[in-house]
Parts: sequence; C-alpha cells; structure tokens
Amino acid sequence: SSIPKIVILGAGYGGVLTALRLQKELNYNEADVTLVNKHDYHYFTTHLHMPAAGTDNPENARVNISKLIDEFKIDFVKSTVVQIRPQDKKVILEDGTLSYDYLVIGLGGEPETFGIPGLAEHAMSIRSINSVRLIREHIEYQFARYKLEPHRTDYLTFVVGGAGFTGIEFIGELADRMPLLCKQYDVDPNLVKIYNVEAAPSALPGFDPELVEYGMDVLAKKGVTFRIGTAIKECTPSGVVVGDNEEIKSATVIWTGGIRGNRLIEEAGFETMRGRVKISDHLLAPDSDHVYIIGDNSLMFNPEGRPYPPTAQIAMQQGVVCAHNLVASIRNQPLKEFTFSNKGTVASLGKGEAIGVAFGKKYKGRVASWLKKAIDIRYLFIIGGIQLVLRKGKFL
Ligand code: FAD
Repeated sequence: SSIPKIVILGAGYGGVLTALRLQKELNYNEADVTLVNKHDYHYFTTHLHMPAAGTDNPENARVNISKLIDEFKIDFVKSTVVQIRPQDKKVILEDGTLSYDYLVIGLGGEPETFGIPGLAEHAMSIRSINSVRLIREHIEYQFARYKLEPHRTDYLTFVVGGAGFTGIEFIGELADRMPLLCKQYDVDPNLVKIYNVEAAPSALPGFDPELVEYGMDVLAKKGVTFRIGTAIKECTPSGVVVGDNEEIKSATVIWTGGIRGNRLIEEAGFETMRGRVKISDHLLAPDSDHVYIIGDNSLMFNPEGRPYPPTAQIAMQQGVVCAHNLVASIRNQPLKEFTFSNKGTVASLGKGEAIGVAFGKKYKGRVASWLKKAIDIRYLFIIGGIQLVLRKGKFL
C-alpha cells in the first residue's frame, strides 16, 4: 500500500511515549504503526531498585503493553530484534522481518563494564524484570546457604559497584532489606556487610555536594561501607579486587557503574560513542530523514557542550518530539527541534528517605521521598491514565 510504515523498536520510556503520541495525533489510515518489544510488558526502570532488593514485588514494576496502547491503531509485535538493516529499510526479528519507511530506535541501554575483567561474567546488573527477579532470589539464597556453611561469611557480603543513581537507590533498599532477611533466616545482623565501591572521587558525581553528604550519611547509618575513589580492578567468582589488589570476598556483586547503547546499533553501521549515536536536533540519525534514535541509544549535548545523561526523563520528552516529527514528515510539514526541559532529579535512599533537586530547590528526607513518589505517579498517569495510577500507584 502507499500508506507509510512506521516501526518503533523497543517499548521503553521513549518507545511507549512515541507510540502513545502517534496513536493520538495520526488520522485514520495516515500511517501503519508497529511497535516491537521483546516482552509483552513495559517495565518501570525507575522502580526496579525495590524488586531487585526484594522490598517490593516485580509485578509492581511492569504493565502489559496491551493495557497501554490501542491495538486497533498500533500493531504490537512481541519479538526480539536481531538486526537492523538501514540500507534495506528492514528490521530482522528472531521470527520474521519487518520493512519500514520510518524507523524509531528505542532499544535502551546495556551495562558498560569498561573492559573490567570478569564483570560481565560474574556480576549481575539491574536492568529488567528478569534481571531483578534473579538478583532478589540470589540475595535470599545466600542467607539460606550461609546457615548450612557458617564459615562462608562471603555469602553475607554484598558488593555494589557504582555510586550513581542506580547504585545509591539500590543500596538504600538493600540496607532496608537486610534486617528482615536476618530475622527470617536467624542470622546475626553484625555479620552482614554491604560495600559500595565507586571509582570517581565522590558518590553521585555532579550532584549537589550537600545532598550527597546527607545521602551517604543516611546510608552509612544503615550499615553501608563506602569505598569511594576506589576502582574495581577485577571481578572473580569469589568477589572483587579493588584498589591496591585488596580482595573483598563476596558471593554477590551487583554492577551499576555504567551504561552504553545497544550493540545492535553499532552492528547496523551507525557511528557510535559507547554505543550511542549523536543525533540531530530533530532526533534523526546522521544524514537520515527517516531514522529516529531516542533514549539511552541517543547522544545529545546541552548548550554548554556536555552530553545529557541517559534518563527516563529525557527519553520521554524525546518520544513526544519524535512522534510530532514523524507526523510532520508524513504531512510534509516542518520538523520541530528538541530542547530538554530538566524537571529535576530525585534519588531514593530506602524507606522514607531521599535526596533531590526540583523546581530549582533542594529536598531531603521525607519530603524528597514524597517527591519521588509523585514523579513515579505522574509517569503512570501519563502512560496509563488514572486506571494505571490506581492499579500500581499505591505500591510506589
Ligand atoms: P528502555 O526504557 O530501557 O526500554 C528499552 C526497551 O527495549 C525495553 O522494553 C526492552 O525490553 C526492549 N528491548 C531491548 N532490546 C530489544 C531487542 N533486541 N528486541 C526487542 N526489544 C528490545 N531515569 C530517570 O529519569 N529517573 C530515574 O529515577 C531512573 N532510575 C533508574 C533506575 C534504574 C535501576 C535504571 C536501570 C535506570 C534508571 N533510569 C532513571 C534511567 C532510565 O531507566 C533510562 O534512561 C530509560 O529507561 C531509557 O529509556 P529508553 O526508552 O531508551 O529504553
């Protein structure tokens, strides 16, 4: 047919917002829209630190895609993308092929291990529903194992690599979970050790120093040992080697230290930096008028020339502009330039504690923790309206 085909890869923050906006803005039969995702659900990464530590159920961090999109307007295909072929305008799935006139790549990031030996093999990372289920079960299993091998204190030692937002939020939950697991498995809480190892000279690099100090204080009181300015040299089956060849024996290493773009993108021939493509102000791939790249796979610079960090916040805003530009292209109208509007950042530190900057002000403690909830509820409202807020919001 002569109806243009739009294919969206990935139903993450960027892909879902693009799809929702297209479904609203396109007229009947103006375009065929297909959304491809490897699971039939969308997950809230901003909530994954809780199910990873076991302080919440993974069910509360996901929603079925059929509950979000109107399947009369958008074809949803549950499949895994295995190759993108820009020259042929085709996408190869594990079980078929799709051709497109316009492509939106929103496949999200992958953990970046910076070539640190053993990390990819022996560390776990918080990135999806499947990965957090594994982490949660793994942590609990260590307590069960320890009871049968009480000389193995490494079962009760937990190492989190990276003190960025993900690392800090996870550590807050992990520290909250420990007393509960100790009680459940009759383990002396003094035997549990939680280390947060970060190579940079401070936790949450770039964040307000006063809030960082407050946050580290809260976590230290919950029993976290910080090793800031200390690089992980190697990860082995028995733990990590840090700094000057010091070994921390641990059966649990969670890596949160970095993120890169999806490997399919460089394999498709796009020029990338750590897997991310420098896109135009219209969100297009270099020299393209029909391939949009958004979210963690895109690289954009602020007016001072520094790259924006990959966040759900920017991915969502890009999704909105991407949909606008797709509709404009189809109607031969001018494209819009993307400008990022920073609404602020809040990091939780476990139950009832958080730090954040929003509306140009600093927040900490309970107020910041409410703010975090408000942000998560706002997101549920944007993608799923009041029904989704009522179904999932109470758990946040
Ligand atoms: P994603 O949301 O990652 O979605 C990618 C989608 O593509 C997924 O559904 C995935 O299943 C699918 N997919 C991947 N590969 C394939 C394939 N080959 N075939 C088919 N489908 C595929 N940002 C914030 O702004 N605030 C926060 O508080 C915050 N907290 C975070 C906490 C954690 C634990 C993590 C990991 C990240 C956090 N982030 C936060 C960052 C944020 O999650 C990402 O920047 C955001 O998810 C990027 O959106 P995206 O659309 O690029 O991709």
